Amino acid sequence: MLKLSRSCLRQILAQAKEHLPIEACGLLAGSITEDSLRIVEIFPMTNLDQSPEHFSMDPKEQFAAVREMRRKGLKLLGNYHSHPNTPARPSAEDIRLAYDPEGIYMILSLQGEEPVLKAFKIRHGAYSEILLEVVD
Ligand SMILES: [Zn+2]
Repeated sequence: MLKLSRSCLRQILAQAKEHLPIEACGLLAGSITEDSLRIVEIFPMTNLDQSPEHFSMDPKEQFAAVREMRRKGLKLLGNYHSHPNTPARPSAEDIRLAYDPEGIYMILSLQGEEPVLKAFKIRHGAYSEILLEVVD
């Protein structure tokens, strides 16, 4: 089970809307327990691509974020990005570039009237959705 705090959800939404029409991206941090992953903090990253269709994160920012996570006793659990014009599922490029088989790939779609947020694992060129629960 994957849990996301409501404040993280709000932050991802706000960042994604603010960066339209460009994709927004960032890292997910939290804790791992026996039966769940819990995302408690997000680290927004600059999208170096400045593109509405793909993203790449600044390595320096990633490095600094991971250092801060360690300091706070949090683990890097994965990343998120927005899809301004496409559904909440990994694109062919997202699948091709996925480097971490254990990581969570969260995608927020702003395509429809209501935003849609989904989480995935991407392994061996295929993805599977993970049940996501928003908690207070
Ligand atoms: Zn994507």
